[in-house]
Amino acid sequence: MSRRRSMASPSRAVAPLKLSFWLRLVYPDLCVICGAHLGEGESLVVCHICQAQIKFISRCCPRCGCSYEMLPQNKEFTYLCGECRRGGRLYFSKARSLAFFEGVLKELIHYFKYKLHPSLGPVLGKILIQHFPPDLDLTSTNLILPIPLHPSRLRERGFNQSAALAKAVAKHFGKPLLLGNLTRRHPSPPQVGLSIEKRKANVRRAFTVEQPRELAGESVLLVDDVYTTGATTRECAKSISAAGAKEIQVLTLARTR
Ligand SMILES: [Zn+2]
Ligand SMILES: [Zn+2]
Repeated sequence: MSRRRSMASPSRAVAPLKLSFWLRLVYPDLCVICGAHLGEGESLVVCHICQAQIKFISRCCPRCGCSYEMLPQNKEFTYLCGECRRGGRLYFSKARSLAFFEGVLKELIHYFKYKLHPSLGPVLGKILIQHFPPDLDLTSTNLILPIPLHPSRLRERGFNQSAALAKAVAKHFGKPLLLGNLTRRHPSPPQVGLSIEKRKANVRRAFTVEQPRELAGESVLLVDDVYTTGATTRECAKSISAAGAKEIQVLTLARTR
């Protein structure tokens, strides 16, 4: 794995960097989001107030995990969403995301992904553990797998952000992390702004399981940073399922609305 440490070009950035980001380069005890001084007991990157603005998903489809946020809070929603009722093939049994991909969390993931703040890895890992979806049962899970990057993207970025998150989950739950078996065959162009059909076409047959025997009969948790249309996740799960995995669950830190 390449250990190149050069900073990724901010030209790949999805949003302009705020003043607080640049200020932090000079004053490292400032919150990267709002620029406030970080107090004792706060993470080394983002203050409590900003963290409290993360919008967690409390109600969702029991299968695909899409948000039921618009529905009343005082009810239990145990029914499947329209898409799942229509029987769309997912290749995984359950997907859960912690929070919406917007605001503070979107900025943090952006800074993390483009290595603008490597120390965000542990911070986001901690958020993932602290707010772990209660109905994601890992009792029978015996392998944790991150969604892989293509080797060229990995060289460019220097690390796989999903692997950093998967590592935090594996460590906390004492489960083995499986790296290098699920691989990405061809780099897909950035998915931002593409239609669902184009995203599906981009990732079709993009993943390969190098050693199917390692996955046969296993119960797997797939980890990624953001769930957008689910095209990448489904394609990964399809490869793992073809290798004979018994159960596949999905966990992502964030999800688009
Ligand atoms: Zn702040
Ligand atoms: Zn659903």
